[in-house]
Amino acid sequence: MDKKNNQPQKIVTRFAPSPTGPVHLGSARTALFNYLFTKQNGGKMILRIEDTDTERSKPEYEKDIIDGLDWLGIKFDEFYRQSERKDVYKKYLSKMVEEGTAYISKEEPKEEGQRSEIIRFKNPNVKIKFNDLIRGEIEFDTTELGDFVVARDMESPLYHLAVAVDDFDMGVTHIIRGDDGISNTPRQILIQEAIGAPRPIYAHIPLILAPDKSKLSKRHGVVSVNKYKEEGYISGALINFLALLGWSPQGREGTDEEIFYLDELVKKFDINKVQKKGAIFNIEKLNWINKQYIRNAPIDHLAEVLIDFLPDDLKKEADEKYDLWKKVVSIEAERIEKFSDIADSIDYFFHVPEYEKEMLNWKDEKDIDKTKSHLEYILNILCDIKESAFNREIIKGLVWDYAEKEGRGNVLWPFRVALSGKQKSPDPFMMSEVLGKEESIKRIKNAIEKI
Ligand code: GLU
Repeated sequence: MDKKNNQPQKIVTRFAPSPTGPVHLGSARTALFNYLFTKQNGGKMILRIEDTDTERSKPEYEKDIIDGLDWLGIKFDEFYRQSERKDVYKKYLSKMVEEGTAYISKEEPKEEGQRSEIIRFKNPNVKIKFNDLIRGEIEFDTTELGDFVVARDMESPLYHLAVAVDDFDMGVTHIIRGDDGISNTPRQILIQEAIGAPRPIYAHIPLILAPDKSKLSKRHGVVSVNKYKEEGYISGALINFLALLGWSPQGREGTDEEIFYLDELVKKFDINKVQKKGAIFNIEKLNWINKQYIRNAPIDHLAEVLIDFLPDDLKKEADEKYDLWKKVVSIEAERIEKFSDIADSIDYFFHVPEYEKEMLNWKDEKDIDKTKSHLEYILNILCDIKESAFNREIIKGLVWDYAEKEGRGNVLWPFRVALSGKQKSPDPFMMSEVLGKEESIKRIKNAIEKI
């Protein structure tokens, strides 16, 4: 309760990345958990760029963070950069030195160029206990921290001071961050107590682990959020996936019960139910979720987005034959896991495929003349279907019994290869419908001629 006006205190959270590298999945999940918690409580969320490390912080990484969060749809109410808040830190540092909770320490420089004065925290050497929403009760004896350094001089605060001052000054009520932040907590609590700050509520989220249970890193594949964007993942799917890393809505795995759009997540997410143990990153699961999002997206929208994932020559053709492109999208939407998959599988819709005649033979079929007679049978059937009835159901209806009798592979494989020239492609009924009567017949004839 806010004592002044008896209103429940407004929740304030912050996401506080250091711009020292591209924004990775772990950070994005921390941002997401902050966002979900804040939104469901009608609170305020702050983005605070922690760029006190001037050597490692880079503007391009800050941009990467902002772009990544924007793409994911994680919005902030306020924005700060620590490098622009030196005056605030100085004010608190001076107060601490005045009050004796910090002191200027004269020290023998250990190396040339090192300062002879630094500012140390006067450690009261107490035990600190705090209740973490995820980890439960955590206790530290702060004696071992000694009188740790809080600033190089009055103008140059160090990390823990900046964090504790900012959290206080910005009215942060809940600190949701990665559990690599646990070891920072005792120093930050000590500083809070020295400057008269109330203690925020902590929730330390377990790390994301690779399938081999080691810390997830680049060697396990892509970890940068913006790379997922480039590869053609849907932002909502990545959000959905990240939310399920460490938190579970108790739906059955691999079913629709695991598909949540951002607004549903805001309603369902529960910070108290985030699990303590590390969450295992599983790319197949992300791909599965992404696939569900692709299937649920309107074809017109997909057609617009997917065209940018085509190589230039195909893009031009898809643009010119946009109706064909939309039909291609409608069948590929059932097959691809991410947008970039489209590029290597669809050229045959726009070009007559090239392939070796041996490819037409189904694996058990040694006799190419048999294959030829199957193709001739199909050719006759296709020629007899009226243009207006040339659709997948009718074609399938007319070919199916024959295929059952002669062996499905023996008949349908060459049919498919004649249309696509590929080892893998959609079924031949769908492809014939998309290609249309004239083009399908032309391709079957080509195949027969090859033999
Ligand atoms: N800036 C820290 C980091 O990027 C996070 C600090 C915090 O959330 O307290 O790891």
